Amino acid sequence: MTLDDLKAILEPAGFVHQSGGMLEHLSSSFIKPAGGHWSIGAHAGWEGNEAPYVDIGLMLDLRGATIGTVHRVTSVAALRSKLREIITGLEAATTQEDLLKCPECGVRWVALKEPSAGGKQFTPFLSCQGMYKARSGKEKFIPCRGISRRIPALVIHG
Ligand SMILES: [Zn+2]
Repeated sequence: MTLDDLKAILEPAGFVHQSGGMLEHLSSSFIKPAGGHWSIGAHAGWEGNEAPYVDIGLMLDLRGATIGTVHRVTSVAALRSKLREIITGLEAATTQEDLLKCPECGVRWVALKEPSAGGKQFTPFLSCQGMYKARSGKEKFIPCRGISRRIPALVIHG
């Protein structure tokens, strides 16, 4: 799918294209408010002028990770037919924030962890962000290796 495809489908649904500046040739993001402090982000990584898929999920920090289930849409037709259902599902998830939190520490949000190309392969899962987000300074690091199986980690829409 091309940037024009994404704009044509996402913008009428309320998503706003975020200017990526010098990195725009690598990836593009669209953001839509989702109630309360939540937004829905749609992210596409570019291979030339085509993106093999767009990932749609919940966000709190616009530069941060997608939280909870990621919906990976792999075709223009699927994006057109499934977008409304994906948005409705994500909006519903914001009303049950406990399901988006780590069952082990109960503090951090869970985010998709999936294998990288060429790396060790495993089934994608939702892990506590404390697993890899070790920040110094004001934000206290809570070591946690919690995994959530309460909601799907990755849903593919072909
Ligand atoms: Zn945790």
